Amino acid sequence: QLYNQVQDLKGAIRVFCRVKPVLHGKSDEQSTVDYVGENGNIMIVNRHKQGKDARKMFTFNKVFGGNTTQQQIYVDTQPLIRSVLDGYNVCIFAYGQTGSGKTYTMSGPDMTTEDTWGVNYRALRDLFQLSEARMDVIKYEVGVQMIEIYNEQVRDLLLNGLNVPDASLVSVKCTQDVLDLMRIGQRNRAVGATALNERSSRSHSVLTVHIRGKELVSGSTLKGCLHLVDLAGSERVDKSEAIGERLKEAQHINRSLSALGDTNAIGETISTLKFAERVASIELGAARSNKETGEIREMKEEISNLKLLVEKKEAELEQLRSGM
Ligand code: ADP
Ligand code: MG
Repeated sequence: QLYNQVQDLKGAIRVFCRVKPVLHGKSDEQSTVDYVGENGNIMIVNRHKQGKDARKMFTFNKVFGGNTTQQQIYVDTQPLIRSVLDGYNVCIFAYGQTGSGKTYTMSGPDMTTEDTWGVNYRALRDLFQLSEARMDVIKYEVGVQMIEIYNEQVRDLLLNGLNVPDASLVSVKCTQDVLDLMRIGQRNRAVGATALNERSSRSHSVLTVHIRGKELVSGSTLKGCLHLVDLAGSERVDKSEAIGERLKEAQHINRSLSALGDTNAIGETISTLKFAERVASIELGAARSNKETGEIREMKEEISNLKLLVEKKEAELEQLRSGM
């Protein structure tokens, strides 16, 4: 049964890998990435100019090669994104070390040419187009939030206020509105940064799209939420992985603890839960401003549940550490 639950969970999560092309003038890089296989178990080969190639197996739903276009990337996320209009909650993360192309994939290199638009813009354009096509059946309202999480602090990128816990929810009517807002958000991200690269590689930026739909005939309503996340550079995670490695060694010494499983996974679970808790808190702020008391109660419950889970996982990790 547990196996089935895990399979179900995995079924809900898709992991894609995008290989960054060797960029013009950068052919002097130490190594290039190659891969064998397209989906399922894939061998990633790091071909070093000097020395041995490094090979590692990963499991991905799909790998996109270096010459994949922004549109091709979008096509594979499109069905997920569209389900937001049916009332589903969707979250898309870009994960990778600094310079690997997270921002390129999510936002694009700039906003001038549509060809290079990232997932964010394509998603919103698609959502508006689809909601217009359904206009006779469902009336949709769209709101967006843009926040940055840096040093455990949430900053509202649309108001440019520092440390705003309840990020502003701005209603948008068309793709142009969103483009304008994103420009403001990106400008605010830049303005607030003393060392921009440093900061943007260490902060998560989250664009949240809230959808509300009302069926014209039945009057029934639906709500969906899309989180588009440009995560902080994963090199931070590497450090905790190093800790994870040492903890794994400890597992061999104290086998009775190995039942707890991969300590690294626990560490990751904690950060994921903390992140979920944070997102739930932000949603609570949005719900408050809309004065939906029943929903607030539900969200408060969800937040305290997440807090309990974090505490439990932290205790597990602590126990493992003391067993070293
Ligand atoms: P990250 O956000 O992960 O730190 P960036 O998205 O800023 O990385 O990418 C680093 C550099 O590589 C940028 O100059 C970006 O334009 C370029 N780049 C990333 N991915 C691609 C790609 N698929 N095609 C062309 N250039 C890319
Ligand atoms: Mg970036």
